[in-house]
Amino acid sequence: MLAPTMPALRLAELTTVAVEALLALPHPVALLPVGSTEPHGPHLPLATDTLLSEHTCVLAARALRARGVAAVACPPLPYGVTHYADGFAGAISLSAATTEAMLRELCAAHRAAGFERVVVVNHHLEPAHLDAVTRAVAGVDGALFPTQLSRRWGRLLGEEFKKGECHAGSYESSLVLAARPELVDEAVRAELAEVPISLSKAMREGLTTFKAMGAARGYFGNPSAASAEEGRELYAHLVEMVVTEVCESLSIGTVVG
Ligand SMILES: [Zn+2]
Repeated sequence: MLAPTMPALRLAELTTVAVEALLALPHPVALLPVGSTEPHGPHLPLATDTLLSEHTCVLAARALRARGVAAVACPPLPYGVTHYADGFAGAISLSAATTEAMLRELCAAHRAAGFERVVVVNHHLEPAHLDAVTRAVAGVDGALFPTQLSRRWGRLLGEEFKKGECHAGSYESSLVLAARPELVDEAVRAELAEVPISLSKAMREGLTTFKAMGAARGYFGNPSAASAEEGRELYAHLVEMVVTEVCESLSIGTVVG
């Protein structure tokens, strides 16, 4: 148990002296949150994906420290490839090439700074963005990308997620409610009717914008069913995903829970 002697959970809040001490501990690991600046319905903030990744990283850093891994949550990368939300105000996209290059350099820079592993935690699931993240991580030794889209972890994230109705519905709304409730427009959320359209199915059919998929207000699924309690349960699974894959990568036996 390293926690009592360890510095803050967020890398950017540490002094250089504190980072030097952290890097001297067993298994220094950098958790790198990746998000987007993207419309998430009429009730969630543009930073939804970013703050989900950041909150997961902070919780996972704490859980990893309890298992003897000197983990920190890095500053987030708050932009990605964002074209599905074209036509809604606030979709700010990078190109896939820039996203890939920036992430590859960030992963390599954290490794060069002395971290044994750098772990990308991403909550923006647009295919072109996911491809860029996957390519970036594959190009750096010691970089990991645990993903909630794998069968192993996706099955734990609820029916709505499994059906692919997972943009600004109950899944993401619950996660924001558990982390930053003050950023949810609750009056609007309570009034939203369910939009039972599968984003993943629409993607396979070749549709490339939320509007073309029939999500006129930029959300899928059932936001009004969200709760902070469900969000806390979902974070537990997301933390389990990160902790398990990091410990497996470091050949540390662990039981999460
Ligand atoms: Zn999202």
